Amino acid sequence: MMRMIRVVLSVLALISFAVAQPSPAWTNDPQIESRVEQLLKQMTLDEKVGQLVQYSAGAPTGPGTGRTDYKKLAAQGLLGSLSNITGASDTNAMQKLAVEKSRLHIPLLFGLDVIHGYRTEFPVPLGLSATWDPALVERASRVAAKEASRAGVRWTFSPMVDIARDARWGRIVEGAGEDPYLGSAIAAAYVRGYQGAKLSDPDSIAACSKHFVGYGAAEGGRDYNTAEIPVRLLRQVYLPPFQATVDAGSATFMSAFEALNEVPASANAFTLTQVLRKEWGFKGFVVSDWNSIGELIPQGVANSGEVAAGKALLAGVDMDMESNLYGPNLAALVKSGVVPESVIDESVRRVLRVKFALGLFERPYVEGKAPDGIAPQDLETARQAAEESFVLLKNEGGTLPLKANGKTIALIGPLADDAGQMLGSWSAKGNPKDVVTLREALTKQVEATQGHVLYAKGTEIMGASDSGFSDAVGAARKSDIVVLALGEDAFWMTGEAGSRAHLDLPGNQQQLLEAIAATGKPVVLVVFSGRPLVLNWAAQHVPAILEAWFPGVQAGPALANVLLGVSSPSGRLTVSFPRAVGQEPLYYNHFNTGRPADRADLSRPPKANDEKFVSRYVDEQNSALYPFGFGLTYSSVSYSPTTVSATTLGAKDLNAGTVKLTVSAEVRNTGTRAADEVVQLYIRQTGTSIVRPVRELKGFRRVTLAPGQSQKVEFTLGREELRFWNIELKNVVEPAQLTVWVAPDSTQGKPAQVTIAP
Ligand code: BGC
Repeated sequence: MMRMIRVVLSVLALISFAVAQPSPAWTNDPQIESRVEQLLKQMTLDEKVGQLVQYSAGAPTGPGTGRTDYKKLAAQGLLGSLSNITGASDTNAMQKLAVEKSRLHIPLLFGLDVIHGYRTEFPVPLGLSATWDPALVERASRVAAKEASRAGVRWTFSPMVDIARDARWGRIVEGAGEDPYLGSAIAAAYVRGYQGAKLSDPDSIAACSKHFVGYGAAEGGRDYNTAEIPVRLLRQVYLPPFQATVDAGSATFMSAFEALNEVPASANAFTLTQVLRKEWGFKGFVVSDWNSIGELIPQGVANSGEVAAGKALLAGVDMDMESNLYGPNLAALVKSGVVPESVIDESVRRVLRVKFALGLFERPYVEGKAPDGIAPQDLETARQAAEESFVLLKNEGGTLPLKANGKTIALIGPLADDAGQMLGSWSAKGNPKDVVTLREALTKQVEATQGHVLYAKGTEIMGASDSGFSDAVGAARKSDIVVLALGEDAFWMTGEAGSRAHLDLPGNQQQLLEAIAATGKPVVLVVFSGRPLVLNWAAQHVPAILEAWFPGVQAGPALANVLLGVSSPSGRLTVSFPRAVGQEPLYYNHFNTGRPADRADLSRPPKANDEKFVSRYVDEQNSALYPFGFGLTYSSVSYSPTTVSATTLGAKDLNAGTVKLTVSAEVRNTGTRAADEVVQLYIRQTGTSIVRPVRELKGFRRVTLAPGQSQKVEFTLGREELRFWNIELKNVVEPAQLTVWVAPDSTQGKPAQVTIAP
């Protein structure tokens, strides 16, 4: 009896031990691996190729195949994935064909561009990055995952983690800006949010890190254009955010459109196989971008679809998105010996691994009815995200927050009441009906304090006619203060194929701005844009400027809260705002020249040689109008000098990971309102084997400070932060002179010095 009890107890202990164990990550789960092998053994070559094929059920983002026989293919087991299909009934019906009709019952994976929300639209990614709040980004993408998965979508083509240093590029709006350190933190947060605690949870969706790699370095900022990125720069700046997503468990990658160093990114074995698989150990699969395998032909590395398919697969692209080249060509390429079947097998393994990891074999269908509309708590997250994303660029004489009590406010501009625009580019199932505009929210809140809002559109976003100007000027004259809502067209001028050669306010909005400013009324300019705009005139003539990006469904309430001081602005720029488009590409973490310069007085020619023969424009300053990391709030915050825990450290110890440097500063709220301050840590290394940037972000923290409150903010610097790809292309900490700043942005702070001895 006792023995039996003991046995039962030990079995129970075993069970509870088993329960307490975290399930293995999908990347390393023996059960998944053996199921993949079992299935693979049963597959014909055509069925294998089928798993590597994706078609789209609609909404093309480029010239597509127009193939509509995907139902037949699904039933025959010749389709791996379908994109742009949503909703329980449509996805379930398609899934039924694959699961019930096909020989091996392999479920389809449905993918969609869920970029900054599914139905609950959050700020566009560039705006989200301006929150400097990865936890918030994670919460937003969790909401997106829940909504998308209820509609059958278990795969999002997000996050876009391309570093972008050129504001002309339209897709700068889809990423986290110009910095690899911040970009990596935000990239990982998206993946955690989408993929949740376990990929197999029904409300988790597979992430897709894109566009691998270098897409953001498109020459001249023209979309799809060539990128030349020396390998050290690639490793130092463009690759880290991608690696951060691998470390966070990202299930899939998307190969980019552009030719990277003369080798198209969708046929680039160095990036797709050497770096991604061999160096980083990525276990998921790579999908091409839309027709990017087909584009190997116009790019000139393939003279036929067959060759293009072979090159892409052999380089490491597992799934063909909409080129219609893998389906018709891969089996023949195997038979002719160009592609070994083992390569196909490996790609199929990667796709099946992700399908098993998602639990699609157990739960291929969407169960239950999805609630229509947006849950209140998700709306609340959307509002918070929008509020944190706004960046106060200028606030002369305390123009903001508005003192609306009993006052008349003129609200003018084409973006003040345009619900659709607030959704921003790539808005999945975003619905303008869910959007509360600035006009609606401001009117409601101002009227609650016996104030009054006079609205006039003034002009269209790309307007040429000034017929609306007189009404707008009239409204301004009757008011105490003017709020001007100006900016870009979210769909035409930002996002894919939205590159611009001019970075001004489009249409005749600049003229409208000048006409309103000429009334002499104080003007608050609210800028809606997917990129930095050139705001020189406004910076000189308008007392307050707030960058609002495209804020999503809660645009109005979030803006009204910030404008009226219910909350304080706390966003910080993640991209440099230029003074002139000719400065692009413009980024804070540039190298120093041998002749650095920034001459403020441009009104006269340089006087002497040492003023002339320096690195600068004759007609513009070098510096950004508003630099990376910059943003004001309604309070004021002071920083003590930066202090360090040691003035000398050994490179050897740093490389061994046995020492770290602590860097800190005392940050004080010297104003009268609470403030959320984004405290930033920057470094510079000199005396190194290669030149290093004038500043690099290596830490950041959002802290909340009550009026008068001060806080010591501490960071650590170790091997991860201090190493770089040196002259021998080794990623090591070198002996160097190290300057560190704890600062409110990339141009300020009182530095400390440290020697990194050999
Ligand atoms: C874009 C990708 C997107 C894909 C699918 C392409 O044109 O470059 O970012 O995920 O379309 O819609």
